[in-house]
Amino acid sequence: MMDRKQRIDALANEQILPEEELIALITDATPESDEYLFEQARKAREAVYGKAVYMRGLIEFTNYCKNDCYYCGIRRSAMGAERYRLSEEQILDCCEAGYGLGFRTFVLQGGEDGYYTDERILSIVSGIKEKYPDCAVTLSIGERERDSYEAFFKAGADRYLLRHETADEAHYRTLHPPELSLTHRKQCLRDLKEIGYQVGCGFMVGSPGQKAEHLVKDLQFIHELQPHMVGIGPFVPHHDTPFAEEAQGGLELTLRLLAIIRLMEPHVLLPATTALGTIDPRGREKGILAGANVVMPNLSPQDVRKKYMLYDNKICTGDEAAECVKCLERRIASTGYELVCDRGDYR
Ligand code: SAH
Repeated sequence: MMDRKQRIDALANEQILPEEELIALITDATPESDEYLFEQARKAREAVYGKAVYMRGLIEFTNYCKNDCYYCGIRRSAMGAERYRLSEEQILDCCEAGYGLGFRTFVLQGGEDGYYTDERILSIVSGIKEKYPDCAVTLSIGERERDSYEAFFKAGADRYLLRHETADEAHYRTLHPPELSLTHRKQCLRDLKEIGYQVGCGFMVGSPGQKAEHLVKDLQFIHELQPHMVGIGPFVPHHDTPFAEEAQGGLELTLRLLAIIRLMEPHVLLPATTALGTIDPRGREKGILAGANVVMPNLSPQDVRKKYMLYDNKICTGDEAAECVKCLERRIASTGYELVCDRGDYR
């Protein structure tokens, strides 16, 4: 077996570690070895992206969902969720405000909501692209037919976020109802990539029942898929779900995984997520210092923000978009990195 530093050096030299070394890398750390890991991750991100941190405007346009994922606060059976949908006009208003604040990527995220037929999504995507041809549009609306993904891409959608949630079959089944499968989720990711999207997968850290072996599978799946983006954040319980009483994911483990992903896939776009900012007041800054290079402030209208509660205590649900950007700008500057106004495409 290698020692802690050898493992990190091997990873930084783009060597592929065997499973037992990856497990040790994930589980056997000290504050010193983590600091060394983060330093290597910062070097790797700076070699590709310099000091830039890209921002994506997140528009949470519907919290209706036909799915019943056990962890999610907007699952079908969460009776406490007050449901809402944004009209195309409201979405375009968010983009207009966001454009003025410097956003050049808009992320449309929502539950799997049948109201938004292919036709409606196509109209929204082409509406945004017509008005803002210099901006990227990212969709994050779950599993759909390949034909639909193709049509959205033709209409101008550039990117697609679909976290795989966990790459272990048995673990996947403990987080989702029987009608959802890891096989289908992975197939969607492969289809999206083939179609030509910049694709993002990802997983929750510390979700109930998660073992280091599962995280190794997540890393291996990422390496095999070669996504352009990887979204990871700690699991945070939501009171109105079957996982209400479960423990939240850990800060250190999340940071360590961000750094490991950065070293394994130096070119990947890696957000310091809102969930990370929720479990620690400086979580996003710490994420940036562990190799993340993207932030996704909320652009949703203020009156719906509290309704898009994927988990309890979600931050930034009371602020206006402009305040969020200013606050993030300061936070990023405090790390020595720089929030930039750019589409921030994969390099
Ligand atoms: N319906 C879309 C968007 C899902 S919400 C889709 O299926 O892709 C975006 C992400 O939030 C999910 O992929 C999940 O990883 C994360 N999420 C949901 N509930 C969470 C919780 N309780 N804690 C942390 N992250 C959560």
